[in-house]
Amino acid sequence: MGWIARAIEPCSDEQWRITLGNGEDVRHCEARYLLLATGRQSFHPRVNFRRRRYDRLAFLAVHIPRVSKDNRPFIECFENGWVYVTPVPSDASVIYVFFDARMGPPCRRTVGSLRQTLACCDRLSTLFSDVSGDRNEDVKWFAGTAHSGLATPTAGKNWCLLGDVAESRDPLSASGMYSALQDASRVSERLLRDDFTTTAREDMDASRQQSFAEYLKMREGYYAAETRWSDLPFWVDKGGSMVEASAIPALG
Ligand SMILES: Cc1cc2nc3c(=O)[nH]c(=O)nc-3n(C[C@H](O)[C@H](O)[C@H](O)COP(=O)(O)OP(=O)(O)OC[C@H]3O[C@@H](n4cnc5c(N)ncnc54)[C@H](O)[C@@H]3O)c2cc1C
Repeated sequence: MGWIARAIEPCSDEQWRITLGNGEDVRHCEARYLLLATGRQSFHPRVNFRRRRYDRLAFLAVHIPRVSKDNRPFIECFENGWVYVTPVPSDASVIYVFFDARMGPPCRRTVGSLRQTLACCDRLSTLFSDVSGDRNEDVKWFAGTAHSGLATPTAGKNWCLLGDVAESRDPLSASGMYSALQDASRVSERLLRDDFTTTAREDMDASRQQSFAEYLKMREGYYAAETRWSDLPFWVDKGGSMVEASAIPALG
């Protein structure tokens, strides 16, 4: 474990050469197929694809000792975003606050600021009622991107993108993991059948574009369903959407 792909380059028309490092040691390996499953922020200059971002959704999260016996995950909305609270192992919870990166994080990295920002979230406020605003020593903050994105193409003669690097979805859709596993299953079947022809790859891309267009329409619907703050920027822009609804590709 701990090995990172530091460089990926074609070493002939048929082979890839991958340089792996773990901070102490460097190893090289060669492979006939390159399957990239390195997540939504990965960048691979030697693999020929482009990735378009569809929104600016980002998150700030806090890992906090669990403060309630009720460990059901839940979602709540507020003026400038939405929150996802979920239990995690070691008797802790993670509170994810999603916002438009252009507007910046809605709160500072303190429990007091988080509580104040999310005061309108009824369930979260109940959960927070026993937590002191000064309780900052046993909590861990982290942040990241949660944008929707689509790569084109997602496969070449001897390479393929899987999961979020191929297509990333809004966590609100709760479909990212399913979609990543579906990719892995479809591609492994094709590779085992040695069916990775240009036509097969074009079919895969076409069906992905179709399902991504369906997903974008669904995403519009999720954000439109929250009407309490429909005149405020986060909700007007539907989570920092960078594409007009009318520009979403037509289906069928
Ligand atoms: C805040 C948040 C909440 C989410 N909630 C849900 C949810 O409730 N349900 C759901 O279905 N989906 C959810 N998702 C989406 C889900 O996490 C992703 O769709 C899923 O993890 C994609 O899997 P992946 O393997 O493609 O990418 P990742 O899970 O990002 O895994 C990529 C891996 O590649 C590794 N890597 C990157 N570069 C290199 C390199 N050069 N060398 C070696 N390794 C490398 C990374 O360290 C990472 O471990 C959520 C996403 C976010 C951001």
